[in-house]
Amino acid sequence: MHPDWPCHKGCDDCCRSLASEPRVSEKEWQRIAQAIDALPIQVAEPARQRIREAAGRARPVSCGLLDPASGACLIYEARPIACRSYGFYAEREKVLGCSRIEAIAREAPDVLWGNHAALGAELRELGEARELSVWLESGY
Ligand code: SF4
Ligand code: SF4
Repeated sequence: MHPDWPCHKGCDDCCRSLASEPRVSEKEWQRIAQAIDALPIQVAEPARQRIREAAGRARPVSCGLLDPASGACLIYEARPIACRSYGFYAEREKVLGCSRIEAIAREAPDVLWGNHAALGAELRELGEARELSVWLESGY
């Protein structure tokens, strides 16, 4: 929505280069599962299959919820908190984002970043995080 910021629909390097498949809390998964169920069956089933295939893969992992054709998140409104905060939050001096975001952090030191440590503390209160594939296979 902001032309001076690099994150935009179709910019999917971050979703294609995860360290591991996304891990989410139960509350996050409930929203994600509902969002997957609301997709057309011909979109939802391949997404579920990609989630299963990403289980245990080593970096770089592509998220199963990424639409490979458009580079957009299939469940954007229900995406995990980690995805919502990536590229907008910093932990001490370290901005958590891709190389484009890191360049902004170097070149525009007046950007006001979110506090990732505070977010992390709130996230831990949501309970144990599990991989998408684990939630999916649990039938939740
Ligand atoms: S974090 Fe980087 S790769 Fe991800 S959407 Fe933003 S600019 Fe694109
Ligand atoms: S859930 Fe959506 S935003 Fe998050 S990594 Fe997967 S495709 Fe990207």
